[in-house]
Amino acid sequence: MDVATNLRIIQNNIRQACEKSNRIPDEITVIGVTKYVTIERTKEAITTGIKNLGENRLEGFLEKYNHIGSEVKWHFIGTLQSRKVKDVIDKVDAIHSLDRLSLAKEIDKRASKKIDCFIQVNVSGEESKHGLQPEGVISFIKDIQKYKHIRVVGLMTMAPHLEDKERLRGIFKRLAAIRDAVKLENLSNAPCEFLSMGMSNDYEIAIEEGATHIRIGSNLVG
Ligand SMILES: *Cc1c(COP(=O)(O)O)cnc(C)c1O
Repeated sequence: MDVATNLRIIQNNIRQACEKSNRIPDEITVIGVTKYVTIERTKEAITTGIKNLGENRLEGFLEKYNHIGSEVKWHFIGTLQSRKVKDVIDKVDAIHSLDRLSLAKEIDKRASKKIDCFIQVNVSGEESKHGLQPEGVISFIKDIQKYKHIRVVGLMTMAPHLEDKERLRGIFKRLAAIRDAVKLENLSNAPCEFLSMGMSNDYEIAIEEGATHIRIGSNLVG
């Protein structure tokens, strides 16, 4: 299906999820995840009004960025190797996968301005998932306070692919609770307003639980 049709369906679902949870659709940023698709398809997404794109690998990101440039905001959503930070740092608007000190150190070293970062949290405890353990998030943010180029704007998680909606909801609730705990700390480097959670399979539930950034690939452009 064309991206415009997909987007209409998604926007309709966003509206319904917002109604259920007393939220407003304007609070939610749709990040179009273009990792599976061509430049043509990515451009089609932009013409429908998508203003935020996400890529999870350096090569894919650079290929898209080189064709499209900064007419959209770019979100780096995948695992980022420290030695590749220098290749993306001046091009991305946000990094969603900050999960270790060595990466924070490298971002701080290479950045020439403050970089918006989401801390990736492994809420579900699956071994295959990247991210900090929930218990470690606050001490991690304190540890990176010395890195002046990092602004912790929120938390990010990837839920496992579950059919059990209530388990998914539990994962999103937990991330929201960790975000609230971080905010209570009033840390100068961590306004931590945002929740990057929800993908094609589960974005409606994520919105009901407070997502501010949803990352949608297959249902939008796939
Ligand atoms: C691929 C990917 C997505 C989008 O997944 P879909 O299920 O296709 O919507 C979101 N977030 C991350 C980190 C991804 O790697």
